[in-house]
Amino acid sequence: MAAPTAAPAARAALDQLTKLRPHRSRVSDGIMSSDAHKKLNPTSDHDKGDAFDGTNDPSEGVDSSDLAEWLRQRCRLGLEKRVKYIISDGRIASGTYKTSFWTWRKYDGVNGHFHHFHVSIWHSRRNQTQAWWTGYFTLPTPKPAAAPNPKGLPVLEAHNLGLRAKNGDVLILQKALNAEVKEGRLRGVDPLKQDAIFGVATQRALSQFQQQVQGWRAVKSPGLPVASTMTVLGKRRGFIFKA
Ligand SMILES: [Zn+2]
Repeated sequence: MAAPTAAPAARAALDQLTKLRPHRSRVSDGIMSSDAHKKLNPTSDHDKGDAFDGTNDPSEGVDSSDLAEWLRQRCRLGLEKRVKYIISDGRIASGTYKTSFWTWRKYDGVNGHFHHFHVSIWHSRRNQTQAWWTGYFTLPTPKPAAAPNPKGLPVLEAHNLGLRAKNGDVLILQKALNAEVKEGRLRGVDPLKQDAIFGVATQRALSQFQQQVQGWRAVKSPGLPVASTMTVLGKRRGFIFKA
C-alpha cells in the first residue's frame, strides 16, 4: 500500500488561507500527523492526509474560533460538502448524526484545539480544491483603528487646556476663537491677544462660543474647554480635540 499523501483539498485550504493572509502564523498548521500526534490519536484523519489544522492568528485576521464557526455554518447550509468534522475550542461539529447535525458539541479528545482548528475531509472529496474561504475575507484584516486625522490637523490635548495654561494648544484655541470673532459669531467679544495663555479673556470668549454658537444657557457656559465644545469648535476651525 502506497504511503498516504496530503489531500489536495487540505493542501488547498491552507495554501488559500496563506494567499489571503500572507503574514499569518503557520506554527500549528499541519496535514500529515506527526509521530506525537499519532500516539495521541492513532485513528486521526491526519494519518490518511485527509485533515488539516489551521493556526490561530487573530492579529492577522485568522481567528480560529471565528473561522471554524463560519465553516460550520457553511457546512450546515450545505455550501461546503468536503468537511467531515470540525474541532475548535474543545468542541466538535459534524454532519454525521441527525440530532446534532452541524451543531457544536463537547469534544473529549486529548487535544481540544485551542490554538488551531481541525478540519477533517471526506476521503471521497479529498481531490476537490475549489476555494475554501470565499466570502470570509471580504473585509480587510482588522487593524487598530487609524487615528481619525487623515488631513494631519493639529491635535489639542485636554490636559494642555487648563485655566492659566500656556502652550501651543492654547494658541490654536485662541486663533480659532478669534476667527469666530472675526466672522461676527461672537458678538460683544473683542479679539483675543494671541499670547498662548488660557486666561480670563480666553475663558470668556469660549463661554460666549458656548452660548452664541452652541446655544447653551449662560449659567451652563462657564467657558471651560469641555469635549463637546472643543469638538464643535475644532470641526469649524480645523483642529482635533483629544479628551
Ligand atoms: Zn488536527
